Order: sequence, then structure tokens, then C-alpha cells
Amino acid sequence: MGGEATVYRQRLARLLERFPHLGVDAILFFEMNNICYLTGFTGSDGVFLLLPDKGVLLVDGRYVTQAGEEAPQSDVVQYRDKISGVMSALGGGEVKRAGFEAAALSVELHEKLREKLAPGLLVPLTGVLTGLRSVKDGQEVALLREAADIATKALLQVIELMHPGVEERTIAMEMDYRMRALGSEETSFPTIVASGPNAALPHARPGPRKLEDGDAVVMDYGAVQGGYHSDETCTFVLGRAGAKFREVYVVVKDAHDRAIEAVRAGAACRDIDRIARQVIEKKGYGTYFSHGTGHGVGLDVHEAPRLSALSDQILEAGMVVTIEPGIYLPGQWGVRIEDMVLVKEDGCEILTKISKELKII
Ligand code: ZN
Ligand code: ZN
Repeated sequence: MGGEATVYRQRLARLLERFPHLGVDAILFFEMNNICYLTGFTGSDGVFLLLPDKGVLLVDGRYVTQAGEEAPQSDVVQYRDKISGVMSALGGGEVKRAGFEAAALSVELHEKLREKLAPGLLVPLTGVLTGLRSVKDGQEVALLREAADIATKALLQVIELMHPGVEERTIAMEMDYRMRALGSEETSFPTIVASGPNAALPHARPGPRKLEDGDAVVMDYGAVQGGYHSDETCTFVLGRAGAKFREVYVVVKDAHDRAIEAVRAGAACRDIDRIARQVIEKKGYGTYFSHGTGHGVGLDVHEAPRLSALSDQILEAGMVVTIEPGIYLPGQWGVRIEDMVLVKEDGCEILTKISKELKII
């Protein structure tokens, strides 16, 4: 992911401040996006051990050179296998309580480590980086902005190809190709192109169905820059929009707009969800809005905070979250409208730039 060494030093310093509260004198990281966040290393396997005075990046032979280049402020140590690598890194006996990410360590690996280490040395931790990672710094926001801009440019090209007779999967492949051609490192997730009755499935996979006149087409897509993901959904209609479709589109758009108006530092995530949900419920479509209103985006496409009825998180300036209400009428069609926004003290800035007014292609 590159970036300034000072950024990583600041992240590590903020984490070290929490050691007394967490009751640990070291933390083992196994989750690769967390390792990337703390060190800059973008390989697909490794372990990061944070000690009070240094960070040790443990990798296998494939990644020694890459780790040295990407994470110059960490001590890079090569291991033959993960267990022996962790054992020798912790082997000195100075570490008394090593936290580890409970969600990222397999039961098998945990058992093997526990057998070999002193009883009570491994301390399971949950969401160690959730708070830190959910608030983005300037460099992270810049990458999210670039990713969103690439996706916008690609979508504007792909709209030109959307005609009756073209298969969903052709549109999806064109979208992926154009995002990559414009500089995206990969796609945020498999691009969704869902037409006609498929649009009623929130996570439809693009298939051989050919677009037809009058179809609703839900497109959910994202580009990646420096490991940071964009996420946006547009719902278009081909040729002509029926009265019922127009009515539902206005309801979803209204839910989206009201929720975005309410986004600001200090707002409760569950209140943002409630605002969007109430607009949809009042019009009688509550049972057809079957998912949360949004989620944080960053190194993971879905990360903290969650904007749902169950969330107890509060929005903070610097968070980047999606707002994505939808109505899905089984067997008929669906509408989802999603933007990615940067939370500010007194409101928010929309980072995904495609207009969400009803567009008839
Ligand atoms: Zn999405
Ligand atoms: Zn999303």
C-alpha cells in the first residue's frame, strides 16, 4: 500500500497506548488487512508481532523482499512455518501476555500455539483495530476518493453499452475491465449486474440473462486504490419506467437522501438506519428492505461501523460509510441506491459521484 512511514508509526503508537487497558505486553496480528494497516505490507500471508519497542513482521520465503520494501520500519523475520516463527519471536521469555486477534486465528493454529506456550500467555482480543481503522486519515480518504473516481469513470463508459439484448455478465465484465484499465488494482467485490426479476435479489450474480426493454438494472460495483475499496450502487431502467417503479424509486431515493442528511459526527449509527427504514416503512415497503442501511468501507469492503438497528456505534468525523437503502419485490424487480460518504463534524461529503436521480437509458 506504500505511504509515509510516519503514518505507520502513529498507528502503532496509538495502539501501544492501549496496551495497559488491554492487559497485554504484546499483540500478535494474523488478519492481513490489519497487518497492512499497521505496517504497509500487502502480501497474502504473514504474522505481525507488536512489542513495546518494535514491530516484527514474520513472513515466509516468498515475501521477505517485498516485506523489507513495503514495511521498512518493521523487523522482517523469515519463518519456515508459522508456528515455529511465532514461537521464536515470543521465545525470549520477556512477553508475559500476548494478545491475539480471536477472529483471525483458526482453532487449529490456536491449539498448536497454546500447547507450546506458557499457560495464559495467549490472550484473545476482539476488534483491537476496529476503532482505529474506522476513522480514516487524509491518505486513506484520498485513496477512497481515487477509487470512487475510477469507478465513476468506468460506469459512465459502461452505461453506453446497456441495451436490450446485452447479457448481464457482459456488462459486468466490461465494468471490471474498464475499472482495471483505469488503474483499479482489482474489483472491490464481484460486480453485480442484476436485471429484471434478478434485481429483486440483493446479492444477485450476473448471468446470461439478456437485458430487456423496461428492465430495472441494479449495478453494484467498486474499484480499489492502495488497498482501499469504493462501493456504489445505481439502479437504472431501460427504455421506459412504469408507474410502480417510479413510485418505489422515489421512496428509496427519499430514504437515501434523508439518511445522508442525518449523517454527521455524533449521530448514532442505529438512528441513521432508523431514518432510512422509517421512510420505507411509512410507504408500506418495510418488509422489502431486508438489510442494514450501510457499513464502513476501507481496507475491507465491509468494516466498522455498521449502520443497522443493532449497532451501538456513533459516527465520528473521518469515518467513511455507505448509505444503501433498497426495496426488493420478489419475482418482479428491485431498487437499491448506494453512495459512499465521508463523515464530517457538521454533515458529510458524498465521495461517489454518479447522480442518483432516476435515469432511463
Ligand atoms: Zn455496494
Ligand atoms: Zn455496500
